Amino acid sequence: MNEDSGYLLQFETTDPVLIRVKDNILEMIRDLGAEIATMGIRFCIVDFDEVKKATGASPFYTDNMVSLLQERLIIANVRFITELEAAIHALSISESVFDIPYFRNDDYLASCISEIADDPKRYVDRARHLFDTRYIRDISEDDPAAILTLTVFYFVAHEIGHLADECDGRNFGTFFSENNVLEQRIEHAVVKMCTHADEFKKYGFDLPGLAKTEDGRSSIRKKEREFKKGLGVAEANNQKWFKDEVRADKTADKILIYHIREALKKDPFDGNLLQYHLVKGLFTAGIYFWYKDQNTFYRKFDGIHNTNSAMLGLIMMQDREKYINAASLFGERHRFILLRSVLAIGEVLKETTDYFAKVKIWGSTFFGRYPETENDIIDWRLSEMAKMNFLLSMIMDTAVKMAYVGCSTGWIKEQDAKRGIPQLLSVQFESIDQAIRRIKKLTNS
Ligand SMILES: [Zn+2]
Repeated sequence: MNEDSGYLLQFETTDPVLIRVKDNILEMIRDLGAEIATMGIRFCIVDFDEVKKATGASPFYTDNMVSLLQERLIIANVRFITELEAAIHALSISESVFDIPYFRNDDYLASCISEIADDPKRYVDRARHLFDTRYIRDISEDDPAAILTLTVFYFVAHEIGHLADECDGRNFGTFFSENNVLEQRIEHAVVKMCTHADEFKKYGFDLPGLAKTEDGRSSIRKKEREFKKGLGVAEANNQKWFKDEVRADKTADKILIYHIREALKKDPFDGNLLQYHLVKGLFTAGIYFWYKDQNTFYRKFDGIHNTNSAMLGLIMMQDREKYINAASLFGERHRFILLRSVLAIGEVLKETTDYFAKVKIWGSTFFGRYPETENDIIDWRLSEMAKMNFLLSMIMDTAVKMAYVGCSTGWIKEQDAKRGIPQLLSVQFESIDQAIRRIKKLTNS
């Protein structure tokens, strides 16, 4: 596969911000210690539209990121990085996460994400202009390029994990695109959703009301095993790949933690800013890609442009097939995107801060006092990181419900058939503004 991927290097991005991001990342890789520095890893951000114009479809094409083992080459698609930069401008550049205007409600957030996804370059050009001219409020803490660098570094670190494991041609993630078809196959859907439900449970995102779904001896899981057997070797491969992805995520966490610890040794205040930017980036990537996948999904399965959580409850209630379709939102080989963000943020907070000992939540400062001393600022950043962490955990709720019900669908359909009529299945989904209100209430902020 790797014989002549070198030609891609002539199609590297010429965007000055992205070149700086790339150069910084290469330097960060070199500083990772001998074991990784001697791997000779290269990283490039490629404009695949230009590749296509010049040479046609590339065998090395990736929607997001891919690593080639023999050449030690990590390739990112410029569109993916640009989307991320746009998302950072939209969702990270605000004093407090509570002040992000797009979190006012689901519809508003969904339309912002559609706008970015439709033309990320246009969005970024406009956002950079606004930021550079400080047309928006001056927020010295939030340099979008610095946040972008750390976020892309996380993706690169995941690819380094694949290279260290001698895996070739592995992507960062699977996202649901316009070209994908909705899942229709119940066996695949059930097996996949059960895998994700188990992962959610493992990390504390369970649904107490649906404990039967977790119980290996339940009729729900017997049905799943029956389906799994039928899928044979394809499913065995998926399980193996899934483990590979989990391992690469763990390597990525280790790399980030190493990088931050080194920075903290040099300067605790700057190191803390690095943590803050990283958490912002992981938070933004998780939210952006999850909502973008949902937008694509709704468009496909009901022809609607986007929807809110109340609508989602009604749509999902219509019939069982909706939960089979919903499996399209979950990767076959990758963990769920929000879970990856939550776990990475959790590891960074646990290993590089005293977050669990001292975090106290500050309210929004939009009309209030801004922290002034260095210690105040460190506390303020910790508080913001906590808010982002809480918010991501709450947003997981929709995916957890989908996975649990999806996992049970084989059994539910069997019961429907026995009964002769389907039982009404009503699930409530929470909106982004509800989640924010819940955090404010929990933290008295
Ligand atoms: Zn991967």
